[in-house]
Amino acid sequence: MSETDAEIQVRRRRGDADVSADDSKPCDRKKSALLLWRDMPKHLQFNPYIHTGYRPLLTAWGCINSLFYLHNETVNIVTHAVPILYILLTVPALLPWSQVELRFLSWCHFLGILCPWVGSFVYHLFMNLDRSSVVYYRLLQLDMLGIWISQSFGAMPMVIATSYCLPRLLRWFCISSYCLLSLWGLYKAMTAWSPWERRLCFLLPFIMRLLLWCLRVTSYGGGDPAAFQHVVLQDVVSIFGAAIGAMHVPEKWFPGAVDFYLNSHNIMHVLVVAAVYSMHVATMRDLAWMSRVTCNAVL
Ligand SMILES: [Zn+2]
Repeated sequence: MSETDAEIQVRRRRGDADVSADDSKPCDRKKSALLLWRDMPKHLQFNPYIHTGYRPLLTAWGCINSLFYLHNETVNIVTHAVPILYILLTVPALLPWSQVELRFLSWCHFLGILCPWVGSFVYHLFMNLDRSSVVYYRLLQLDMLGIWISQSFGAMPMVIATSYCLPRLLRWFCISSYCLLSLWGLYKAMTAWSPWERRLCFLLPFIMRLLLWCLRVTSYGGGDPAAFQHVVLQDVVSIFGAAIGAMHVPEKWFPGAVDFYLNSHNIMHVLVVAAVYSMHVATMRDLAWMSRVTCNAVL
């Protein structure tokens, strides 16, 4: 079904007087085609406090076209599209690609800060694709995969910098433990079917990062001391964002009043961008630290 047909059908359902002799502007027609929460299929009714502004089920082209009019996913799409462009244009020039020993970590960092936004952008843009709910859950998995890449590959420079001056066995124990916990997180992320399961799948890698924070404040921990506040902020800010998203605040207090702007998912999107900015600052400092420090540990 084309988008135009879908719009006309929706307007007929709403009892609009004459759908064939419509002389309103195209952008007004798009707006009138937006649906209410109760009109949506079950898998898209994930936030009962967002009442209006839902796009109807659309073809892939219709979803892409929805970039050009306002609906209740516009802010979610834009807040993660802008970081994609910004990172692609600025970050590659900052990374130490020429240092062979840091090239893998440069890739980890680049993918770690880019992939969450790509997954999220695709998920939010195509979530109302006119396919079954199975396609929706595949898109959700893609969104989760982007977050997982950030928490696993993206965290690798911090894990390696923190354990940089430990004895070799201990160092590899830290790195391989983090990899195993991340793989467990990937399995949980890909098999999670409830919002709380999706949030908890990153718990074990997070606990390991907490232990690494403790290691960093001792004389045994590596990494640039100037990076520490951003190492902490990257997790604190993203947990704060996730908590706001989980509590559905502020739309829970003002149902229907923040459908298009400033709802919990919008706020969470901005906060996780701020968290990944801290991750970027911390990682750049740790990479520079590793390139100038020589450890006396038993290697
Ligand atoms: Zn999102």
